[in-house]
Amino acid sequence: MKTQTAAVDVPVERFDAVIVGAGMVGTALAGLLANAGMQVALVESKAEPLSLSAFGDHSPAPRVSALTPVSQRLLTHLKAWPAIAATRITPYHYMQVWDAEGSGNIHFSADEAGAPVLGHIVENDVTLAALNEQILTLPTVSTFFGVGIDALQSSACGRWLVLKDGRQLNTPLLIAADGARSTLRELAGISVAEESMQQDAVVTTVKCEKSHGGTARQAFIAGRPLAFLPLTVNGDDRYCSIVWSTTPEHANQLTALSSDELGCALSDALDHRLGNVHAVDAAYRFPLVQRHAAHYVLPNFALVGDAAHSIHPLAGQGVNLGFMDAAVLAEEVIRAWQRGAPWGALTTLSRYERRRRFDNSAMLGLMKGFKVLFGSQLPVLMLARNMGMSGMNQLVPLKRLVMRQATGERGRLPQSCR
Ligand SMILES: Cc1cc2nc3c(=O)[nH]c(=O)nc-3n(C[C@H](O)[C@H](O)[C@H](O)COP(=O)(O)OP(=O)(O)OC[C@H]3O[C@@H](n4cnc5c(N)ncnc54)[C@H](O)[C@@H]3O)c2cc1C
Repeated sequence: MKTQTAAVDVPVERFDAVIVGAGMVGTALAGLLANAGMQVALVESKAEPLSLSAFGDHSPAPRVSALTPVSQRLLTHLKAWPAIAATRITPYHYMQVWDAEGSGNIHFSADEAGAPVLGHIVENDVTLAALNEQILTLPTVSTFFGVGIDALQSSACGRWLVLKDGRQLNTPLLIAADGARSTLRELAGISVAEESMQQDAVVTTVKCEKSHGGTARQAFIAGRPLAFLPLTVNGDDRYCSIVWSTTPEHANQLTALSSDELGCALSDALDHRLGNVHAVDAAYRFPLVQRHAAHYVLPNFALVGDAAHSIHPLAGQGVNLGFMDAAVLAEEVIRAWQRGAPWGALTTLSRYERRRRFDNSAMLGLMKGFKVLFGSQLPVLMLARNMGMSGMNQLVPLKRLVMRQATGERGRLPQSCR
């Protein structure tokens, strides 16, 4: 790391890449670039990085993600997966999706997909802490925790970032990984198409009467998808993480319920498939907005993860798409850097956007389509979706294709994910 002095007499630190946002995506990207030998700065407004030592016999954190086998391979490449697996993961081998207002249902299995698992449910904090453990101690990573960003400037040699504490960072490649409401995206002047899903996600953890059986379940109840994601806690396989995407009014009602009442509401909504359900955590609420940035790249600047796109959680794809952004961007940038080519140039960064935009757009479009199809009370659409689901359930080759999409096996995967 070189230190220069700026005209205003503030020390300026120069890096090959500066990443703002040390969430799961920004931290994974820092690891990929730093492992290749690039000097990377990671800027994060939260005061402290999460550490795995915080997770003893802890009860499950409310935010979890369904990680695809492709994301698992990326985390393995980053050497974070063994610590994630040793802390807590729940593999799922089956998936059941049904229309609570009709007879439509579809079942997927890992056997049919020819894969050992369909995915793993992992607490976001566990993934992040394991990534931190691997990455934040690398000599090629410099961290700036507990500090936000004040200003962004461009210069002939790249981008200048002014931090809230006055420090300045200079780089040929500045990356925004600062989440759905990215400040850096706004400072760079990149517009975003935003569409409220008119739903809030209500999230909690429950203990059920019956074992989850390694199955991820999703019921569409009047267009309000309710997911029961399997969690095994200290060997007990009766826990589930709940994501109920519902109207804001219904979310108000759910979050006002006592834990007994919430448990009853969830048992009823799942048609008692897992017996009686007890809420073991409070109910948290997230407004659902789909966003897609007009561009992912500018000269010396790129967006990744939720800063580039945020998506309805019903197919559990958000962070998986973000990990793919990180892997593809790293692959293009490292290739240019190793050749001695300008790795922050638009020609390099545009290759990343070309490889990622189609996949992300297709997934965002699919989620909008699902919402319309499953939200509709039009008899013709209700019939179509019930016949479509049950018909597809009989067609193993078509199901296999859908499963390959859902497990992330799409298109040309970057080397780190193969
Ligand atoms: C209810 C729900 C369920 C979900 N389930 C799934 C699932 O099953 N599978 C899945 O793949 N995805 C799921 N997602 C989506 C997933 O959680 C997100 O896609 C993912 O967390 C985005 O990661 P990120 O690193 O891009 O952004 P974030 O996690 O938002 O991280 C951004 C980081 O940037 C930091 N930051 C922000 N602003 C600044 C600033 N100005 N300066 C410095 N630092 C800053 C923040 O503190 C944060 O650490 C779900 C989302 C929701 C709401």
